[in-house]
Formats: sequence, structure tokens, C-alpha cells
Amino acid sequence: MGLKVLIVGAGNAGPLLALYLQRAGHVPTVCDMYNPLDEGARDVPLFFGDVGGAIALQTNGQRVLDDVGLLDELLQKSSEPFDNAVFAKIDGSSPVDVSNFEGTRNGSASNATTNTSATVSANANGTGANTGSVKSNSSGTRDKYTTVTLMRMNLQHTVGSACNRLGIRYILNSKLVSISESESGVTAVFANGSTASADVLIGADGVHSATRLLIFGEQTREVFANIIHHIGITELGLGKGENGEDLVLDHTAGFYNDRVGNHGMVFLRTSPTNSAFQVIENNLPPPTEAVEEHWRPVSNLPVESKRLAVLVEGWGAAKNHVEIVRHARRITTSPIYVVPRLPSFHKGRVLLIGDAAHAMLPHLGQGTNIAMEDAGVLGNLFASLGDDWQTVFKLYDQIRIPRIKFVSDQSNMVKAMDNASYGHFVVKVMAFASKRLGYLDKIASYNFKEEVKAALAKLPPK
Ligand SMILES: Cc1cc2nc3c(=O)[nH]c(=O)nc-3n(C[C@H](O)[C@H](O)[C@H](O)COP(=O)(O)OP(=O)(O)OC[C@H]3O[C@@H](n4cnc5c(N)ncnc54)[C@H](O)[C@@H]3O)c2cc1C
Repeated sequence: MGLKVLIVGAGNAGPLLALYLQRAGHVPTVCDMYNPLDEGARDVPLFFGDVGGAIALQTNGQRVLDDVGLLDELLQKSSEPFDNAVFAKIDGSSPVDVSNFEGTRNGSASNATTNTSATVSANANGTGANTGSVKSNSSGTRDKYTTVTLMRMNLQHTVGSACNRLGIRYILNSKLVSISESESGVTAVFANGSTASADVLIGADGVHSATRLLIFGEQTREVFANIIHHIGITELGLGKGENGEDLVLDHTAGFYNDRVGNHGMVFLRTSPTNSAFQVIENNLPPPTEAVEEHWRPVSNLPVESKRLAVLVEGWGAAKNHVEIVRHARRITTSPIYVVPRLPSFHKGRVLLIGDAAHAMLPHLGQGTNIAMEDAGVLGNLFASLGDDWQTVFKLYDQIRIPRIKFVSDQSNMVKAMDNASYGHFVVKVMAFASKRLGYLDKIASYNFKEEVKAALAKLPPK
């Protein structure tokens, strides 16, 4: 009959793992302290389920979505490929091209088919599909993985809908507060007094994971990185500003940095009519609001958008960037935390995935991608090893610990480069060199299926 698996957390990693498990004949249940589709709707009126900003879907994340058969649907809701991405000074000057990181989707690069152009249309709220030129093959699917940006809510909806189609059980509005384990199983206790039992429990409850603290103790509590991201969404277009300003972006993705002032901005065109942005402040004291308030859109939008516009104007930001910030239709304040490195991701019948296990600095945009990798590895192991969860957990550590260390080390290094006092010319040279050496490809092109295959092949025959 398969294992009963309780997944705590219906964010990006949890429901993806549930898809794998259900298909492999196990019985997953996903629980969350919120109803993710209601999120954000409590303080300010929003589109149904519309919360957060954008994520960059890189090759490694796309490979997992491909594995569960959802990639083509999601690419229809994504931006054009990162074929016009730049790294520049805070005012937009001195740009260096950082586009076209990609991996092969079908077979080797040499047998990929020739790209043609396809056009898909944008949805009404401007957060959806791309109307620009998309690299695709004759069947309408892309033959390569090229980084795209996607509204997080589109990822949530698509994976959540696939879970619903398979009849996966959700327990919502249930906050995990305690875990007890016996020889035969594990029981989660929720704040509303209800309980749920299973053979194993997977903690996918994000950076402020209750599962991690309950299992591994207070010494594994997340640490504030002194960085705050103000994440915004703005409708783009000609003459869209109150005074007729053009709200336009010159690049698919732009990363703007002032290493002396120690602040930065990111602008991502998620569709021809939508920009997601981040205003990044460093060296800040810890936030005072409760962690439950994180990822809630600000309720004083007119005040906050004006404050941020004045702030980035003072940094010397380009005029169009200032106006895009000023005209945000939603802003979410996101304090950045990292999780101390864990020597193992499991204990007893409990295992951690995603931010709960290894939230890292966001400087490579890998958080969501690597969380999806976790789900891909664990899902494939459970599909191959059936009820033998002890071996699944052991191989999971074996595969994930070196990989997570590598990617989080690289994220730390990029942060150090961001904050170093050398001039932009040195950054240009390094960005050029790392592109030529395929540095980012090495991070993003990771093939989790090969890693799982290799680990399984080393198991002694039964
Ligand atoms: C609402 C929201 C919006 C976000 N928006 C963005 C964004 O715009 N851009 C970006 O780069 N990243 C965003 N993130 C973070 C991003 O989703 C994660 O960094 C990354 O995808 C890793 O995913 P995860 O599944 O490990 O964690 P998350 O996606 O953070 O999911 C964790 C889930 O666990 C639930 N949870 C937490 N504690 C408990 C508990 N005690 N009991 C039950 N459930 C619990 C949370 O409600 C959440 O749904 C957002 C996260 C959230 C929760």
C-alpha cells in the first residue's frame, strides 16, 4: 500500500514532493498553517492567491518540473528566456551581459533540434504568459532549459492544481507545534489541537521551520543575515504612471549594485506587462515583526512605495527604475535568514527539505530551485526504494549534503563579491570570466536524476 507520509508545508517544495509520492504508490498528506491560496488576502485586497513576487526558474529547477510533467505548462506562464540579462552599476551604466545560461533538455546539446519562435498571450492581470519570442521546437516545447522568471503564485497554483487532480489530501490552517515518535510511526500535533499520524514526516515548512527546531533543537534556529528585500510588482506600459511616465524595462533581467553604498536592486520582466523588483538594503538590524508576518504584503502601499522610490532615487537609480518602484501595486518586505549548516537532514522518522533544511543567501537565486531539487531527489528515491525509508533517508543525505554545501558556499562567495570594495571594472572581468568558464552553468545544470541513479547503483544487492 505504500508509506503514509505527512508533509508539513505547502510552499514550493512540499506539494512537489507529494506529487512524486502519490505517483509512486505512497500516501502523502500535505499540511500548512495557512491556506496558501488565501495567503496575503488577509490584510489587503489581492487577486485570489496572489502573493510574493517572482522567482528565477533555472535549469536545475526546470529539470524537476519536467520530471513531474509540469514544465511546459509553467513555461507558458513564464517570462521570455534570460536572453537580455545584465549586471550593472546602480544607475544602469556599465552593463555586463550575463544572459543565456542554459542546459540541454532532450539528450545532448548536439542532438537538440533547431529553435523556432512561438508566441503565447499574456493573461489579464499581467502576471502570466509571455507574448515575446520563445525558443521552442516544432512540438511547441522548448528543447533547452533557459532561465526564465515566473511569478511564485503561478508555480504554487500549477503544482497545487496537479495535487488536487491526483486527489492528494491537504490539511490547511493547521500549524505544527509538536512532534512525537514511536516505534511504529510519527504524530504531528497542531496548534488547533488536532493531530495527524504517518510512517514518516517531511518538514518542508520553510526557513522558520518548526519541524527543524522540534527535531534538532534551538541551536539550529535561523539567523538574520542583516539583509532586507523589498519585493514589488508593477504593471508595465507606456504612459502608465500617474503623470504619464513610461514604465518600461530595457532588459529581461537587470541586477544593479552599489558596492560602496552597499545596496542593490533587481528588475525582472516576468511578462511584457509585468515587472517584479527587489530593493535590497544591507546592514540592517533584525526586523521586529513576528515571523508569521513575513511574506505579507505591506498594508500601507502608497506610503511604502513612495518611501522606496525616494530611497532608490537617492541611490542614483535610473529614472524608469524609480518610477517602477513608485508605481508598485504590491510590496512585500522579506527579511533574509539563513539556516546553520546541518550535519544531517534527518533524525528518526523525520527529514527536512527546502528552506527548512538549508535556507541560504539569495545571491544566486537558487533557493526555490534547490528546494525543488530536494523534492526531485527524495521523490525519485521513494519511487525506487518503496517502503524502505531508512535507506531513502540515508541516500538523501549522501546526495544532498555535498550539493547543498557547494551551492551555499557559492552564494556566500557572490555576496562577498557584492560587498567588496573593488571597482566595477573588476566585477565586469569576473562576470565575463565566469560566463566563459560556465560557472553558473555548473550550479544550475546539476542533473539530480543522474545523482540518484549513481547512489542507487552503489547499494549492495538485496
Ligand atoms: C507566502 C510566501 C511567499 C513567498 N514569495 C517569494 C517570492 O516572491 N520570491 C522568492 O524568491 N521567494 C519567495 N518565498 C520563499 C520561497 O518560496 C522559498 O524560499 C523557496 O521556494 C523554498 O521553498 P520551501 O517549500 O522550502 O519553503 P516555503 O515556500 O517558504 O514554504 C514553507 C511553507 O511552510 C508553511 N509553514 C511554516 N511553518 C509552519 C508550521 N509550523 N506548520 C505548518 N506549516 C508551516 C508556510 O506557511 C509555507 O507555506 C515565499 C515564501 C512564502 C511562504
